[in-house]
Amino acid sequence: MNGNGEARERWVRSGDVELCVAEYGMEGKEEDARRPTVVLVHGYPDSKEVWSSVAERLADRFHVVLYDVRGHGRSSAPRPLRGGFRLEKLTDDFLAVADAVSPDRPVHLVGHDWGSVQGWEFATAKRTEGRIVSFTSVSGPSLDHFGHWIKHRMRHPTPRRVAQLLGQGARSWYVYALHTPVLPELAWRGALGRQWPRMLARVEKLPPGEYPTPSLPQDAAHGAWLYRDNVRERLAHPRADAYAHAPVQLITPSGDPFLSERLYDDLDRWAPGLRRRTVPAKHWLPRTRPGQLAEWITEFVTATEDAGGGTTSPAKGLTGDCGPFAERFGGQLVLVTGAGSGIGRATAFAFAEAGARIVAVDRDAETASRTAELARLLGAPGAWAETVDVSDEQAMEKLAEKVRTEHGVVDVLVNNAGIGLSGTFLDTSPEEWRRVLDVNLWGVIHGCRLFARQMVDRGQGGHIVNTASAAAYLPSRALPAYSTSKAAVLMLSECLRAELAEHGIGVTAVCPGFVNTNITATARFAGVTEKEQERLRSKSSRLYRIRNYPPEKVAGALLHGVLRNAAVVPVTPEARGARLLARLSPRALRAMARLDPPL
Ligand code: NAD
Repeated sequence: MNGNGEARERWVRSGDVELCVAEYGMEGKEEDARRPTVVLVHGYPDSKEVWSSVAERLADRFHVVLYDVRGHGRSSAPRPLRGGFRLEKLTDDFLAVADAVSPDRPVHLVGHDWGSVQGWEFATAKRTEGRIVSFTSVSGPSLDHFGHWIKHRMRHPTPRRVAQLLGQGARSWYVYALHTPVLPELAWRGALGRQWPRMLARVEKLPPGEYPTPSLPQDAAHGAWLYRDNVRERLAHPRADAYAHAPVQLITPSGDPFLSERLYDDLDRWAPGLRRRTVPAKHWLPRTRPGQLAEWITEFVTATEDAGGGTTSPAKGLTGDCGPFAERFGGQLVLVTGAGSGIGRATAFAFAEAGARIVAVDRDAETASRTAELARLLGAPGAWAETVDVSDEQAMEKLAEKVRTEHGVVDVLVNNAGIGLSGTFLDTSPEEWRRVLDVNLWGVIHGCRLFARQMVDRGQGGHIVNTASAAAYLPSRALPAYSTSKAAVLMLSECLRAELAEHGIGVTAVCPGFVNTNITATARFAGVTEKEQERLRSKSSRLYRIRNYPPEKVAGALLHGVLRNAAVVPVTPEARGARLLARLSPRALRAMARLDPPL
């Protein structure tokens, strides 16, 4: 399981219920007492086992505590059920668990779904003040904040706000269903309870395996009271003082079918300095993205501890900061090939500024090291340089293995390394063809093959970006080899996108136009003397300099493309125009392809 052994279970009494509590990461060693305690609270209709994969990952560094919410898993249910699940009673339970597992120090709280709904209550109630150091909320809003969100939109309706209300109203269909008497209990104890594990596995694309607990039908029947006891009342009469008294990290899956991202628009008002994280996934992150969750929890808990633990005001390193790139890429592992110059270097910097860890790969050791060094200065929590020729299959295999063992599975791979080759087909030698295809196409194939396999095996999604070119869809008599290599990269990206979608892995092809980089200084011109080669290089470099489109803009478009999971990102105006023309009037493009380029 982990270096810290199996979980130990014990029972904690809270009023009339006995709560089953599991603890990881405590072996009775002296240093165990200094470990921060992290309490993970599960949602509906789960039990504490939904957190197992996250808990195992956290157990190396923290004292990790899970408990079955009353009426779930192995905890007993209140009698009578009605009224027994009110948020005030759930707060009693949390305090009883916190006092039992960490009597002298406040705890870090993490909640998913209803565990997060409860977590907001704990993190905002007066009587828990001083018992919580930090709160990480995953897919579960505060009912009070939600109530104010609804009221604000009803009192000040605009078409957009009404659409937001209707949108969230439609996503909440199951909440209405759970308010009907008896029927939910019958459904859960009957066919729904039997089918649920399979339905969930299909919808969430869960890796194969048993459902975490056999108590599901009973848990789900009891848990209906979470909704009945709290939702209507709190939404109608939300607390006016529901301000967080500990730093909050909000993790939002962008594909959550139950909760709109808009619900959290006003959240900074309630949780100043809120840190936001987004992840392209559905609702059950503790099961589908345990690695990512564990990393973000570790980072937040560590930052809170470093900031003095328990301060209510947001501290350095904890603040929300940070914009959509940091929300999505902060802490992620990003590998960029051809990172020593131009678009690759600018891309590595943009990810570094977003707080990602960077692996800068280039065949040029010196420029790769420089990129890694600067990436660290720009904010990357880690940046490493690797010297590899992407066309070398064995070297790429070694790289993939090394990165996996030393840094983990890459979250975003950018296959960017490429070389230029100009000259007509009849002037281009077989060696020149081989070289351009080896780097521009085979380099991308090696990267995709090796790193996509790791992403699929990990089962927690990811993203691949391949740098193609506007030349991929823009024929030219002057660029047959280069354009062929880039057209192949574009098609490879489309095919791979179709194949990897079911694994939650996005694929994007980026198609820049003319970008002011070093490529013109190193590009080859086929069929000319060395002297002529030099003349053409400096002429094309001058033209690109005059055009002066900066690689930083390509990097910005690339990061946006990943955020949106765009299939193709044409970047410069000429690349966008050519793509439109390729669709509207391919004949016009064919006519232009016959013209000699201005070189
Ligand atoms: P650049 O020459 O500034 O940077 C390319 C980098 O890739 C260099 O650091 C180089 O050392 C590295 N590289 C080249 N071959 C390699 C190999 N075999 N293994 C490892 N590293 C290698 O060029 P750039 O303009 O930044 O090009 C980046 C990508 O963008 C290329 O794929 C290129 O085809 C594409 N692109 C560029 C433009 C443009 O106008 N600059 C337009 C469209 C597409």
